[in-house]
Amino acid sequence: MTTASGTRHTSEHSADGRGGIGEIDILWISEGMSCDGDTVSMTAADQPAIEDVVQGLIPGLPKINLYNKVLSPTLGGEEFLAPFRAAARGASRNPFILVIEGSIPNQNIIEGDGYWTSFGNDEDTGEPLTLNWWLDHLTPHAWAVVAIGTCATYGGIHAMAGNPTGSMGLADYLGWDYTSQAGLPIVNVPGCPVQPENFMETLTWVLYHAAGAAPPPPLDDKLRPQWLFGRTVHEGCDRAAYYEQGDFAKDYNSPKCQVKVGCWGPVVNCNVPKRGWMAGIGGCPNVGGICIGCTMPGFPDAFMPFMDEPTGGSLSATLIRPYGAFIRRMRGITNFAVNQEPKWRHNEPALTSGYDPHWRS
Ligand code: SF4
Ligand code: SF4
Repeated sequence: MTTASGTRHTSEHSADGRGGIGEIDILWISEGMSCDGDTVSMTAADQPAIEDVVQGLIPGLPKINLYNKVLSPTLGGEEFLAPFRAAARGASRNPFILVIEGSIPNQNIIEGDGYWTSFGNDEDTGEPLTLNWWLDHLTPHAWAVVAIGTCATYGGIHAMAGNPTGSMGLADYLGWDYTSQAGLPIVNVPGCPVQPENFMETLTWVLYHAAGAAPPPPLDDKLRPQWLFGRTVHEGCDRAAYYEQGDFAKDYNSPKCQVKVGCWGPVVNCNVPKRGWMAGIGGCPNVGGICIGCTMPGFPDAFMPFMDEPTGGSLSATLIRPYGAFIRRMRGITNFAVNQEPKWRHNEPALTSGYDPHWRS
């Protein structure tokens, strides 16, 4: 099969009767400016686990070939690089989903020789192949492109003000209007690192779409999955009732709302307090960690210095204090009343419950 961009796929991949793809490759490059934390995080997922996806245990998905250096059975080198080289030539065996981990440095600002980050060497010259080279050669052929983690999605820590690398997110590099061979925009799954199930759930949706069994994943204007990033940390936080009652922690040893010790949860799109970190456990503010906005395009600059009270948090906390103090007092009184047993529950001969059968004369 030859696609619009000239990509040739030599295997039959429309074998499921729904017009979908029967076999697909996942080419995963973590050679962006990163710590590889998103690959490590992803290995903790269990809804679904990457092992279940790769072994074909999830009904309805295409056959999947995963090429990720941490999970590769190869010893690396040319054996590992072979599917990437073929895809860059437009000759991949199957359609492929390109997963990019890490932010994209700006090679244009380097004067003379040098590079910021690379993945394999040029076969003819032996020179390092930059991440930028791979993106230029792979993204025109990719069936879909997924950015994992905040570095790949928006630039993250490497793209802070004052950084010497000119780093950026994938959409900054390719253009926010990039579309893949499948007509999909970049799918951004931010997080520092990514929440494991957030990524695997999104990847699974993309794979069901490839199989012809699901529509494209719905994304917001920052290209994040809407169903995962449509609500704020605050809306899912275990401590939100303390906020509503104007009851704030003064230090990190308190179970109360942490907005006055630096939490940005009320204005950050993230589902981690609901979902937890691993197997439903954890979730930053739930377990005492302030939200520092790691899923947001403005991270980290917009949320620094960490642990200082956000300006908006100071205002809203001040406004809610009188309401919260009053309502907390009222609730204390009501709580005392409903925390007692009614007086008619006793083992005496008289019925004192107020029962009054209306048929008695
Ligand atoms: S700890 Fe943060 S997210 Fe939780 S209720 Fe307070 S401000 Fe909201
Ligand atoms: S709660 Fe805040 S700090 Fe924690 S993962 Fe979500 S955005 Fe990042």
